[in-house]
Amino acid sequence: MSTPLAFIATCDLVGLVRGRSLSRDAVVNHGKSVGWVPADLSLNAFGGIDDDNPFGSVGDLRLLPDLSTEITLPSIGAAAPLSIFLANQVLPDGSPWSSCPRTHAQESIAQLKAVHGIDLVASFEHEFALISLTPIPEGSAFGLDSFRIAEPFGSELVSLLESNGLEPENWLAEYGANQFEITVKPSPAMIAADRAVLLREIVRDTARRHGLRASFVPLVSPTAVGNGVHVHLSLSKNGLPITFDPTQPGNLSELASFAAAGILAHAGALQAWTASSQISALRLQPHRWSSAGIFAAVQDREALLRICPLTTLNGADPAASFNLEYRAADATSNPWLVISVLARAITAGITAGKRVDPIHTEPISYEDPSIKRLPESITKAIESLKSDPEVLSWFSEELLAAHLGIRTSEEIELSGLTDEEKCERYSRVY
Ligand code: GLU
Ligand code: MG
Repeated sequence: MSTPLAFIATCDLVGLVRGRSLSRDAVVNHGKSVGWVPADLSLNAFGGIDDDNPFGSVGDLRLLPDLSTEITLPSIGAAAPLSIFLANQVLPDGSPWSSCPRTHAQESIAQLKAVHGIDLVASFEHEFALISLTPIPEGSAFGLDSFRIAEPFGSELVSLLESNGLEPENWLAEYGANQFEITVKPSPAMIAADRAVLLREIVRDTARRHGLRASFVPLVSPTAVGNGVHVHLSLSKNGLPITFDPTQPGNLSELASFAAAGILAHAGALQAWTASSQISALRLQPHRWSSAGIFAAVQDREALLRICPLTTLNGADPAASFNLEYRAADATSNPWLVISVLARAITAGITAGKRVDPIHTEPISYEDPSIKRLPESITKAIESLKSDPEVLSWFSEELLAAHLGIRTSEEIELSGLTDEEKCERYSRVY
């Protein structure tokens, strides 16, 4: 058997995992890290480094593995099983690098705790397409035939998530053609974001090993059913859930209502970090059940913030599972930065102390002038970001410049293409 390797991984500003490997023994028994280059953060989805990136050709970093994040992928051929460790990007002396997305998330979650004494709990729900799977018969949405055609991929995926501690919950054939969904249990927010990074790689790797290709692209074509990343959020204090209050509108506790208002107040700017590709906004159109309007609603899949149903089956305590779902994310964005901006918006909302109002309990109409639309393109989301000083203040100058530079470089890369062609290009990447 070959030397067991460890892949030391980071996730970049286009949500892709990159890294370097060394022997697992060097990581686990000798505390080794690997070198990294600051400008790698300015890679766009198509592999080009933005020419105007703020880092240039100079500088060096280390990818410092977090030993608690280890997962193992099955061997391919004669290779030993592969370990993957998530890493923080640090300066050569080990001090934090101000543009590291994982460090950013750790700091934002810690800030919510420091300022308000609140722990953020989260879970990422992923939809994806099994692109090269035998076409599933029409009309088989959620069907047993779709489910069985995806075997043994599906069962192996669930086992791998289980054995790697990702706590899978539901594995299902979704509504779209060749579309599937996998959910995992809620966990402390940092673990949830780490799981999102790892889960996408486990899905892609499992598909590859079965001669399939999984794609988390937000849309395989402009008219297809979207692949969303929905982020379930709840608050906890001193180990107790504090999101649920049956005496309040929507059953949202006062603090959870403040938190929701914080997310709605910064929704346009957040979208630049949570759905950041050139095609992401195409998914966020009315009547796609993805979310298209900046509002909170009880159990409405058109809402940016959906208040999820209560579960009281088998005597379950509703307070324990009650949560809010942020629906305007997709897999072209970095899960650490998604959770980071949500944590910051929640902190800001609780500081502002204003309740979310209204909470919709009936279907909304997009004709209603009080329903504000989410930005209808990444360019508009970036405009919202640039005009939101509070959100701008959450980022170092370099991190912001790198993020904006990538959006421009992807826009240039895709200029002249139709939406269909853009979806096709992104499908090949994600
Ligand atoms: N596919 C939808 C999306 O693009 C979500 C549908 C659902 O609620 O599962 O987000
Ligand atoms: Mg779904």
